[in-house]
Amino acid sequence: MLITHDTRCALDTVVDLVNSAPEDEAAVDGLLDVPALADFVRSHKMSDVGVLSEFDLSAVRKVRAKFAGIFAAPDARAAAGLINELVAAAGTTPRLTDHDGYDWHVHYFAPGASVADHLAADCGMALAFFVVAGEQERLRRCEAPDCRRAFVDLSRNRSRRYCDSRTCGNRLHVAAYRARRKEATG
Ligand SMILES: [Zn+2]
Ligand SMILES: [Zn+2]
Repeated sequence: MLITHDTRCALDTVVDLVNSAPEDEAAVDGLLDVPALADFVRSHKMSDVGVLSEFDLSAVRKVRAKFAGIFAAPDARAAAGLINELVAAAGTTPRLTDHDGYDWHVHYFAPGASVADHLAADCGMALAFFVVAGEQERLRRCEAPDCRRAFVDLSRNRSRRYCDSRTCGNRLHVAAYRARRKEATG
């Protein structure tokens, strides 16, 4: 499937959004307050976002929970239902743009959309294209035992099982290596 620059950005954004959620009660929320949300918006170069408020923060957290559900969806039909709901609630106005020197691409968020609706529309549509392409399985959660981080598997044969936090891949490599050695020597 073709993944344009803009889709790629939307994917990075939605993965970071989902993974900003605290993993358990003791962990700190990555979107703790309005300045943290402002940082998120800035680091993902989201365009046309106005002044942020507490209302935006709680709306974004709600959208985040919905995206987490999409990454946990067992199949394409379940994912499609959740994406439809999310995108419909946000409202979309597809329009072509070549802002900031990027090639022509489509923005889905409506003019003046809140940051939560912006995320729901554009990231929701980026995920929708995976369902359309028969690639919903690429929207994954890490299989490391104590990690449930979301990621998008862009490997050729959909073989990626762990998130890109280095500890997950490495730790499991080490465990597999030890197991093999034990077998060989014991
Ligand atoms: Zn754009
Ligand atoms: Zn992981």
